Parts: sequence; C-alpha cells; structure tokens
Amino acid sequence: MEHITSEWSNYLALRPWQLTSAAAALLVLFYNHGFWQAFAAATGGAAPANAMLYLGTFAMLALVFNAFLSVAAFRYVLKPVLIALFFVAAATSYVVDRHGAPVDASALGEAPPWTLALMGALPSLLVWAVTVRFPSVPRGALVNAGVALASLCAAGALLLALFQTLAPAVRDHREMRLLLTPANAVQAGRKYLRQAWARPPVVAPLGRDAVKGRLWAGHTRRTVTVVVVGETARAANFSLNGYTRDTNPLLARQAGLVNFSNVRSCGTATAVSVPCVFSGLPRGDYAKRKARSREGLLDVLGHAGLGVLWRDNNSGCKGVCDRVAYEDLSRPAAGDPLCDGGECYDERLLRGLPELIREATRDLVIVLHQKGSHGPAYWKRYPAGFGRFGPVCQSDKLAACSSAAIVAAYDNSIAYTDYFLNKAIDMLRASAREDGVDTALMYFSDHGESLGEENFYPHGAPYVFSPEKQRHVPFMVWLDDGFRDRFKVDRRCLEARRDQDFSHDNVFHSLLGMLNLKTVVYNSQLDLFHACMPARQS
Ligand SMILES: [Zn+2]
Repeated sequence: MEHITSEWSNYLALRPWQLTSAAAALLVLFYNHGFWQAFAAATGGAAPANAMLYLGTFAMLALVFNAFLSVAAFRYVLKPVLIALFFVAAATSYVVDRHGAPVDASALGEAPPWTLALMGALPSLLVWAVTVRFPSVPRGALVNAGVALASLCAAGALLLALFQTLAPAVRDHREMRLLLTPANAVQAGRKYLRQAWARPPVVAPLGRDAVKGRLWAGHTRRTVTVVVVGETARAANFSLNGYTRDTNPLLARQAGLVNFSNVRSCGTATAVSVPCVFSGLPRGDYAKRKARSREGLLDVLGHAGLGVLWRDNNSGCKGVCDRVAYEDLSRPAAGDPLCDGGECYDERLLRGLPELIREATRDLVIVLHQKGSHGPAYWKRYPAGFGRFGPVCQSDKLAACSSAAIVAAYDNSIAYTDYFLNKAIDMLRASAREDGVDTALMYFSDHGESLGEENFYPHGAPYVFSPEKQRHVPFMVWLDDGFRDRFKVDRRCLEARRDQDFSHDNVFHSLLGMLNLKTVVYNSQLDLFHACMPARQS
C-alpha cells in the first residue's frame, strides 16, 4: 500500500513552474471579472471575432503573473506566498466587482466570509495539499530565472502580435490596469507603504508679498469672487462655442458674461489639471511633486488678505486647498432632494451661498468644484427634469449604448452645468444688489472628454497623443457691474479677446490680475485681463 501511495504522490508531484503557471492562469481567469468586463467594453464587446484577442491577452497576463510568481518559487516560500495571494485576490476581486472601481488598502476588509472561503480558502487548500518537488536552492534559482525570462519573452511576443488591437483600448482605458487582480492589490499595498514612510513635503512659500493693488483704495464694498472648477466638460459641446444643440440656453442670455472659445487644459485628468491650474506652474513646468512642495494660488490669495473657501462635490481638491477652509458637499444626507443614489447634484454647491456671502466680513474667493459631466454615468449628473435631449444611455458600460444616446446624456449634463452656472451668477447678482458686494465668477473645466470619436472614450490619454476633445475646455468670466467698475475692466476689450488662444496657464495670473493683487509671482503676460484694464498702472 505504502508503495502505491508514494508512487501516486510521485506521479502527482508538481514542478514549481507547473504550480506557478496554474496559479497564474487561475488568478487571471477567475479573479478578474471586473477587468474582463471593462476589457470587453473597451474592445467592442465579447464577440467571436475577438476570440484571438481574448485568448492572447489571457495568455499574456498569465505569463506575466507567472514570471512574477517564479521569483518566489522556492521551498517554504512559494506556498505561503500563493495562499496569501489567493486571499488578497479574493477580497480584491470582490471589491472591484462590487464597486467597479479600483481598490485601496482600506477596502479589503469588505469581502464577506463566503467569498473568502470559496475563492481564498479553497484554492489555498489545493496549494497546501499538492506535492511540489523543489530542486536545490542554487539550481532552483537558475530554473526560476529561466522560467521568468521565458515567460516574459513569450508575453512580449504576444504583446507585439496584439499591439495594433490592444494599444488604443489600453490607451483610452488606463484605469483598467487598476482592475487587474491581484496586481492592483499589490500596487495599493506599495502605495500605502510609500505614503506611510514618506516624509511630509516641505511647502515652500509663494507670493507672501501679495497685497491689494491701488484699485482697492477708497472702496468699502467687499468683493466676492466665485471660481467654478468644472469636471469633464468639453468646449465642443457648449452652444456658446457653436455646438448645434442648445446646451447653453440660460448662459446665452446672461448679461456680463464673456465666453472664451479657445482654451486648452493643462492635463487630460483631474489629478493633473487641478493641481496644475492652482500651482501657477505653466504646463511645461508642471510636476506633481513640484506643485506639492510649494504654496499655490489659494495661498497667495490668503496672503493678500482674502478669505478662501473650497466647496467640493467631486473627489477632493488634490492638495490645492490644504491650507484653506474646505467643505465636502459630495456626501449624501438622507432625504436631501439634491442627492440621489449615493451622489449629489452640483446645485448643492450653491446651498447657503447667499447667507455665507452676507455674513462674511472679508473679501472672499469661493471655489466650487463640480462633479460636472463626469462619466461614464453621464445620466446621473443631472436631476430628473433636466433631460432635454434623449433617449439617453443609462448604463455604466458605454459599449452597451449607441453613440447618439451617450452624447445625449452627456449634453444633458452640460445643459445642467449651464443651469448651475446661471443660478450661481443670478445669486451673485442678487448679493451685489442686496448686500452691497462686488461679485464675479470664473468658470473653466479641468479637461474635456472623448465621446467615441476615433474610438476614444473618457479622458486621461497621455497629453501628447490626446485627442483635441480632451484638451479643449470651456472658460467663461462673468463680472457684475460694480466689480467691473471698481477694477476698470474694459468689457469690449475683453470680448474682443474671446477667440484668442488661452490655456490653464492663464488662470493663476488672470485671477490675480482681475482682483488687482500685487505680488512678484504675478506675470502680466499670462493675465488675460491685463490688456483690458488700461486704468491700472502696473
Ligand atoms: Zn476631471
């Protein structure tokens, strides 16, 4: 009997590379439902014509995973690593499926016991039970290196073969890599450790010399400037910029509004554009670390004696409001009519604004960070009753909808932004009248959006390759009469500049310029008001 069992176990004994290959294939196949869904959506659906693409991609990913696992393919190391990986992958894949979103370390506690049992414990038992014949350590190191190298070479060959088809899908859907389990979990872990160990950045001062210029002298009225940071709004779909659908019915009638039609963004994603705009670094010089390690526009406004408040209905201010007052209005409260399905509409950013303006004792700059037209659920960005265009796409999976339905939902979100901005301007006009403050509003979007043109979707494409639609953003300025008179802005001059080329680089200096704030960090050449404020001596 003993003889037979040992023969059987010899027969069943695996080489380390066989176990790592099996584990890699299992992980790619069964723990990546969310990834494969996104992949199918990005490549035009799970059609038979795509079979080679799916097989090839599966093999490529399994080979890359196998290469990584080979590094750990030693006795006493491989099994614990695999068991840990299956549990992490089970938890991660549950979170990704549930939220359709990338994970961070804190989300990993969410997975219910049955998921951990079925997808964590079950494969772990198999791993534990199987007999693996490990060679000696030196020989194993050699074999493992060979296996890793061969796997990477084969994956590379597959990548070359599939590149033509894969490149556009991957380029447009960089977020897909965050759905890939367990690579995403490993990445989240690394990020967590990096942050835990990172020293807090030293923030260098900026514009500490800022003061109010001479146009402030002799005025007793306070000023309130609202800066609206839009989200994913592309200039091309604003009727103010010539779009055929009437997406700006209200702003088109708004007196005192100047719309600039040729403005380019700093980046194609929120996490680039928002810090870039407020850093005062021109696009060519912008780097995340650089911006983080010095103060920004909001600090300079503070140095000049203005009160600054950031109200957010998006995903936070990306560090640019770290040293000013902050209100998070993105979390739904029970029974709030401006919230639905776990999110809130942008109008919520305006709640209490007139009272806030009335009760303030200082000059104010209030930043409103919109959710705007954030995709892919464009139809969730506006309340019922704002669906001017239709039928609309009501799926997170854009591939499930016709392009006309996607664009209709997107256009409704732009029309809601039109309503939102119009309401903000009306409020500011009323504050000017009733509370004797000089008011102004500046609006720009952080980046644009691709709606399927040339097969591009969302945004976030590398800047140099990015389609125009992701970079061309709306930009408008509204000045109340009192504000314009005080700061001697020549409205006709401003209107004459409306079709000139501008960019996010202009925001920092234009805001300082329109408020006549003096500091060495101000550059009049980037101030789009400068030429239109002739009464101001610089
Ligand atoms: Zn954005």
